[in-house]
Amino acid sequence: MNFIFLGPPGAGKGTHAKLLSQKHGIPQISTGDMLRENIKRATDLGKQAQVYIDQGELVPDDLVIQMVEERLAQPDCQKGYILDGFPRTVTQAEALSKFARIDKVIDLVADTSVILGNLSGRRVCGNCGATYHTRRLNGATTCAACGGKLIHRVDDQPETILHRLEVYHKKTEPLIEYYKKADLIMDVVVESTIDHDFMLIEKALGL
Ligand code: AMP
Repeated sequence: MNFIFLGPPGAGKGTHAKLLSQKHGIPQISTGDMLRENIKRATDLGKQAQVYIDQGELVPDDLVIQMVEERLAQPDCQKGYILDGFPRTVTQAEALSKFARIDKVIDLVADTSVILGNLSGRRVCGNCGATYHTRRLNGATTCAACGGKLIHRVDDQPETILHRLEVYHKKTEPLIEYYKKADLIMDVVVESTIDHDFMLIEKALGL
């Protein structure tokens, strides 16, 4: 099964896509993680992407589309995948429809207060990319999984968060209508514990 997780930054796409990936053994394809990995390795793509990411802008469609098309052609994607953070524009969705068949789209619906709380307290491991929240870290500054240093992403700073939300409303929200027309979308309101919200997602996906 091929799924898309849609929703504003900070709604929990990455958290839930990861849980689903671990539980059902299908890869989580996070374009944000892939781009950050390219930045870390200082590839041409990473160098081009960094300036957009740091400013809370979207990376140009052609760069991201090519990256995803290549990734989905890998053997581990043949039995299914979860797209986390892609598509983010109608142009990306149209391109995707030419090289992928999507079975269901989950739209994570979250209150702005939840989103702002999730993003401003988010810390990520600079080494392995694991995600944490200050409300559960008890002051820890290193990753429980690998010992790497926890960082506050440049694009999780307050001014950039607000800009990312504007970009989401303008460029990504139209995808809700796009996938509604294709009769693929299911709304899931995320407002409870991770376990409870995850149960709702699995139910929406018929898993
Ligand atoms: P994320 O980790 O999904 O929040 O993505 C972090 C940043 O990576 C976004 O704010 C964008 O700058 C960039 N990015 C991730 N996915 C895409 C995409 N599908 N299209 C364009 N830019 C993207």
